[in-house]
This record gives sequence, C-alpha cells and structure tokens, in this order.
Amino acid sequence: MITLQGKGVSAGIARGRLLFIKRKSLAVEKRPVDDAAKEIERFNAARQEAAGQLDALSKTMVDKIGEENALLFEIHRMMLEDTDYTDPIVEIIKTEKVCAEYAVNTAGSRLAQDFADMDDEYMKARSIDVYDVTKRVIDILTGEGQTIGRDSEPVILAADDFTPSETAQLDRSRVLALVSRQGAANSHTAIFARTMGIPAIIGFGAFLTGDLSGKDAILDGETGLLYVKAEPEIIRELEAKQKRQREEKEALEKLRGKPTHTKNGKPVKLYANIGSVNDADAALAGDAEGVGLFRSEFLYLGRDDYPDEETQYESYRKALEKMGGRQVIIRTLDIGADKQADYFNLPQEENPALGMRAIRICLTRPDLFRTQLRAIYRASVHGNAAIMFPMINSVDELRQAKAAAAEAREELAAKGIPFKEIPIGIMVETPASAVISDLLAREADFFSIGTNDLTQYTLAVDRQNDSIAAFCDVHHEAILRLIRQTCDNAHKAGIWCGICGSLGADLLLTKAFVEMGIDELSVEPSRILKLRSVIAEC
Ligand code: PEP
Ligand code: MG
Repeated sequence: MITLQGKGVSAGIARGRLLFIKRKSLAVEKRPVDDAAKEIERFNAARQEAAGQLDALSKTMVDKIGEENALLFEIHRMMLEDTDYTDPIVEIIKTEKVCAEYAVNTAGSRLAQDFADMDDEYMKARSIDVYDVTKRVIDILTGEGQTIGRDSEPVILAADDFTPSETAQLDRSRVLALVSRQGAANSHTAIFARTMGIPAIIGFGAFLTGDLSGKDAILDGETGLLYVKAEPEIIRELEAKQKRQREEKEALEKLRGKPTHTKNGKPVKLYANIGSVNDADAALAGDAEGVGLFRSEFLYLGRDDYPDEETQYESYRKALEKMGGRQVIIRTLDIGADKQADYFNLPQEENPALGMRAIRICLTRPDLFRTQLRAIYRASVHGNAAIMFPMINSVDELRQAKAAAAEAREELAAKGIPFKEIPIGIMVETPASAVISDLLAREADFFSIGTNDLTQYTLAVDRQNDSIAAFCDVHHEAILRLIRQTCDNAHKAGIWCGICGSLGADLLLTKAFVEMGIDELSVEPSRILKLRSVIAEC
C-alpha cells in the first residue's frame, strides 16, 4: 500500500482506478511561414472560434457550476480580446515568421509564467487560466481536442494540475475524484470541484508519480489522504465512513427549508459565512437563512489597487440579490494581520495581529472607509443588508465608525442617491469588547462574536502558529465565560447576539450556546443542516 498526503479541497470518499491524463505537450512545432499576414488571419479565426466556444460554455455551464462560476468563461473570452495577450502573439508571427500555434504557445507560456512567478497567491493561481485559454486556441489551430474523462469506466483522474475548463466540463458520471501534483485551494478548479461535489485533493507534488496510473486507489477528500493499492482494512474503514456520510446526508436533507428551533421551540438563526458573491450560491445550497459574515476584505485581496466604490457596490448588490430577502451582514474591511495586500503599504510590524488591522485601518484612513460604506449603503436598497464593524475595542471606536457611516449616508443623501437605514452591529472579538459589552450594547444593533480572534487574544495563542496549537484550548472556560457575558449583556440591552467564529459550528458546544441564549450561528454553509438537526435536540 502507498499512502500519499495532499491537501483536501473538496470532501468526499472515492474508490477507483487512477488515470493520469495524457496531456499533449503544449510544445508545438516551430513551423516557418512565408505569409505572416495569412498566419495572423489564421490566429484571428482560431481566436474567434475559441470565443464562440467560451460563449457557449458560459451559458451551458450555468446549471452545472452556477452562474457566478460560469462567468469565468466570460473572463477567458475577454482575455482573447486583451491586447496584453494578443499583441505579443502577433508580434512573434510577424518578426519570427512562424506558424500561429508556435506564437500562441510561446507568448501564452510566457504570460502564464509571469503570473506563476507573482508573490500573491491569487494572481499565481491565474496562471492556469492563461494556460487554459492558450491550450484552447492551440487545440483549434492544430485540430486537436480534449480527451479528458472519456475513459470507459469511472476513474480517479490525476494530473499535474487541472484547468478550470477541464474541471467544469468533466462528466460527473465518469469521474470519481480529482488528484493533482499542484494546485491552490482558492483556484477555480478547487471551487468547481466543490460546487460539482467531486472529491478533490491537490498538492501531492512529485510523490504522485505517473507509474501509479492504472492502479486501484481510494481517497478521502476531507483528510487529503490517497491510498494506492490500499489494505483491505483501510478500504473497509473508508467505505464505512462513506456509507455513514451518505446516510447522514440523506437524513439531513429532510431538514432543508425547515425552520431552526430548539426542543422548546426557541428559534435560532442559522446563517452562513461567505467571502465572495460566489459563495452566496453555496450559502443557498447549504440552506442558510442569511449571511452572518460577508468577509468583505476578500474584495481587496488578490489585486494591485483598491477596489473602487462601483466594484464594491456591484459585489454587495449581487450578494444581496442572490440572497433574496434574507439578511446579509457585511463586515467592513478586516485587512492586516494574516490578510495582507501590498498596495495598502502597511508598516512592517513585530506583531501584526496586535497591530494595524481591521477597524484601526478604517479609522485612520477615512476616505478608504467611506468608499466602502457608501458602496454598502448604495447596495442596501437591493435587499436586507446590515453592517458589522470588526475588532471594536471601545465605545469611542464604535462611535467613530458609526460617525463615518453617518457621513457616508449624508454624502449619498446630498446627491439624491437612494439608500436604506440598516442595522449596525459589531464583532466582539477581543477580551476588552466582551468585558465592556454592556456599554457597547447600548450603541450597537447586534453583536456577533468572532471566536477565532477572541480565542487568540484571550489565550494569547497566535492563531497562525501551528506549533503552539496544543496550547489553544478552544473550549477554555475563559472563552465560554466571555461569550456568556456578551450574550447576557446583549439581551439586557434588547439586542441579539450571534457567533460567527469557527466555534459556532463546534457541535460539542451547541447545547451550551443554546442554553446561553445565543440567537444566531453563522457557519460554513455545509454545516447548516447538521447544526439544525443538533439544535432540534437541544
Ligand atoms: C473571528 O475572528 O472569529 C472571525 C469570524 O473573523 P476572522 O476569522 O475573519 O478574523
Ligand atoms: Mg476576526
């Protein structure tokens, strides 16, 4: 038996034969041509055909991977019109007098490499998109096509990496799971695999050797473990886990669309945490009753400049529209600490988690803050929005943040731009805010406890440092007391109190939270139905 550990990016258990995709190398023949103009015409014709294919894909893939995800093919099509992509190709054909496929391959590979060399993980992951588009144009020029997943029996597909196109077009009935040497958890490939329910493990590196092709394997997309020629005991264990998961899933499906309440009939709101508009699809698929934490900082990551008001407005509007009348709580920018964007030019700090982050940035850069607040207020007319400020430590900070919100409203009102008065809440994620939650509750419309940060600040355990994980007792009595105190103070002031940190999904604590009177839990969408079943027993 060979055991390989990768990074599980899409949960599920699958067993079958491993099949390595035989990729035609993109290296194409360097064929000299006499008539460069004619070759450029060939390139343009291939480009148009590729654009047609992508147009069709962006429509037909909506059912399979969702509207937002299918937009990726739109982006690929736009790349075919982008002169940054096309000019170098035309230049190579003209100056080197070579065939179009060679020029596309050379320029496309260079651009893909430029992305791969970038520091930013998001931009790095875009390299596969350039590769994807380039491969599509070359396939058209050479008359070759995709051969992925057309094997006779369903298989576990293996490759260096999968392009988003390949993943989206997989025939689900023929592909049991995906495994790859490379890949990123935030790649579209991983997102598509999750959306389509295909178990996937990435990042095996060189350990995933080609000679494993054809061998029987079993994998667990949750743990990231792949067993080739597995011992019968492992197979029995994983198949039993798969059966349990399937049965539980079927049982939980009965709770879809049902209200969430305890044995005594006390309602609890079950909301979802999302990081992008795309995730709103997952929130709906998970049966979320709202969005309890929209981590808006993801709009600021993976870019080289600040997103403008319009860009932000569009994202918030789309999220609100997607969620229908369900509440969407937009947390204002929480950048800094582990979430860095170079263009913010944040100072190098000894202790970034204790440094310039979250509301501290917003209060020291009022223009930046007001742009976001204006975008949220403008979007507020499209649904049921709320604002939430992160890392509030004092009444004064809350007042300053609320004053910025009031200024944003005044600016819109002065221009006659419509907006709604929406609830303004805060995250309680420092011991200071939990201790003075009685004072904060008088000025906030709701509380949402960020247990990830509350835990690191209360226990003085860096949440990023795996080596001290053993010292991080997430069930520490100090955390539970702070949560209870915060919840009590919220109720005394007549406001609601939820939890949006990871502890909210900790089933060992659900009963304790219900007994404390927690009103809302905001969790990963996939945890909602399970939580609903556990709450019903409390
Ligand atoms: C938290 O701190 O618990 C939280 C939800 O915020 P984030 O994980 O984004 O810091
Ligand atoms: Mg936090």
